[in-house]
Amino acid sequence: MRKAGKPKLVRDARIEAVQLLGRWTRIAQGHVLIGGGCSCGITAASLRIEEFEQQIMDFLKSKHDVAAKSASVAELLRAIATQGASVDPGRALAVLADLDRTLESFDQLHRTR
Ligand SMILES: [Zn+2]
Repeated sequence: MRKAGKPKLVRDARIEAVQLLGRWTRIAQGHVLIGGGCSCGITAASLRIEEFEQQIMDFLKSKHDVAAKSASVAELLRAIATQGASVDPGRALAVLADLDRTLESFDQLHRTR
């Protein structure tokens, strides 16, 4: 039996990593702490994007071996995107899922009306 021709239902961690990298880049550029507020318009912000990133990395490193060697979110995502073969897909997707949830909560926090 040949496996060719079967539809691929497997998620590709490399593609998702690239998509998340784009999203992270937009967040990092769009939310700069100025005075007592954020550049996106909310005034209750108290977290610099650098501090937020450190929190993300601490969280990911505590849960995922895959993240242990990366110093930043962008570095982690690039590592997954470019070294897809050396990263276990299941583990990579688990990291991406956690990161996605974290960015989602940041988005909600900073959503202006
Ligand atoms: Zn913001």
